[in-house]
Amino acid sequence: MGTRGREIVGMKVGKLLNLLNAAYASEWLAYYQYWLGAKIIKGPMKDAVAAELTLHATEELNHATLLTTRIIQLGGTPVVDPKQWFKLSPCAYDAPEDPYVVTILDQNIAGEQCAISAYKKLMDATKDKDMVTYNLALTILSQEVEHEEDLQSLKEDLDLMVARGHK
Ligand code: FE
Ligand code: FE
Ligand code: MG
Repeated sequence: MGTRGREIVGMKVGKLLNLLNAAYASEWLAYYQYWLGAKIIKGPMKDAVAAELTLHATEELNHATLLTTRIIQLGGTPVVDPKQWFKLSPCAYDAPEDPYVVTILDQNIAGEQCAISAYKKLMDATKDKDMVTYNLALTILSQEVEHEEDLQSLKEDLDLMVARGHK
């Protein structure tokens, strides 16, 4: 752990580590939800949607990597037991039990909206207190905003296709 780097944090490091570990747990759940959704998806445009889901899965995993780096820098321990993921995550894991493309998209859009709110909160909590975590949360938030838009525009394309098909 870097001692000077820790000293400049203007909030309780324990509280900060809890927030970071909650986000970390959430990213693993998001990763799995996307990864599995991409494998089982069925319906119109499934190949295009699966490609986006797979890409998002890798990006969620990268968020988990960024968060562990910060947790370790602060002298913390990333959640060691996956059984804790459900308990700690601010966002629910939505099991892709129905493989229909629209259902999968809706579940992941809801997940992104929760993630956007969670990173906004992390930014509010670290503003003027921990610039490094604030900047990290901004980096991740920007990508979650992009994810939401990607999924909503895919859903829009699907809706257009279905509407035209029924004319
Ligand atoms: Fe993420
Ligand atoms: Fe995301
Ligand atoms: Mg994308």
